[in-house]
Amino acid sequence: MELIDGNKIAAEIAAELKIEVSAIAGRKPCIALLRVGDDVASISYVRKKEKTAAEIGLESRIILPPVTISQAELFALIDQLNNDPGVDGILVQSPLPKHIDEVAVFRRVSPAKDVDGFNTLNLGKVAQEDETGFVACTPAGIMELLARSGVDLKGKHVVVLGRSLIVGKPVALLALQKKAGANGTVTICHSATANLPAMTRQADVLIAAIGRAEFVTADMVKPGAVVIDVGINRVVDASKKSGYRLTGDVHFVSVAPLCAKITPVPGGVGPMTVAMLMKNTLKAYRLQACG
Ligand code: NDP
Repeated sequence: MELIDGNKIAAEIAAELKIEVSAIAGRKPCIALLRVGDDVASISYVRKKEKTAAEIGLESRIILPPVTISQAELFALIDQLNNDPGVDGILVQSPLPKHIDEVAVFRRVSPAKDVDGFNTLNLGKVAQEDETGFVACTPAGIMELLARSGVDLKGKHVVVLGRSLIVGKPVALLALQKKAGANGTVTICHSATANLPAMTRQADVLIAAIGRAEFVTADMVKPGAVVIDVGINRVVDASKKSGYRLTGDVHFVSVAPLCAKITPVPGGVGPMTVAMLMKNTLKAYRLQACG
């Protein structure tokens, strides 16, 4: 079994980006990170994005509206950033408070600054295999992780567990694309799928993104499979100072010995998501600089 080290691969990408950014004379690419309220996980995700941007040499602007912000006020804030020539990329940290329509917010971000890749136009470009758009960071990170780990999806059965707009659907579309590294035969499973273990056991490459701690057990995995664990779940653990530990959607201890390759949690897909956000910000800057 080979552990796919997301921290190492993300650091390689960051180093490549740093070289590219250092060659830019004048204004550096800038990402606006918008976090509504004080969700504990969101605070740490935005902090990590800010820190990585600084390491690469990108500028970041942190915008922290209160949890009580109305949808109209949030739209006005996004419009301001859409029209600001000093801002190349805009990220609205999910989840948003319940009174705000998240998909409407994703649609409000200008497609040209949508470094999160959740805008309708950019999701459509993924379906059309149009590379001028932005691919959502976690799905893009998964594909990059596979490519840099020598996993070619051509001819493989890829089973995606989860059909969210953020992970499941776009990663399935990417695995399906008619291009080098992709060309997978893709099955998407969800909460209404019958006999889930029978489906997952067919996977040469299993991508688990359901948000259920340690849901995928050894009996659900084909020996020799590649397993990508996207899940980030907090489970209570009294032995930890924080009172919880992070775990994926895969029961790592029992599944890992069966696999050809597997990603850990933490240290697998998570760091790749951040790396791809930085890559998208540089792409947004270049697209805008080129008119
Ligand atoms: P969502 O809750 O939006 O979607 C979960 C999906 O899993 C849904 O399609 C749901 O089905 C399906 N599902 C839930 N329970 C089951 C079940 N028992 N059997 C089969 N399918 C099930 O989650 P996200 O896609 O946003 O995130 C998934 C996980 O990935 C989370 O743990 C999240 O924290 C993590 N994540 C990690 C990132 C990273 O950078 N590493 C980035 C983004 C997310 P249905 O559609 O039928 O409801």
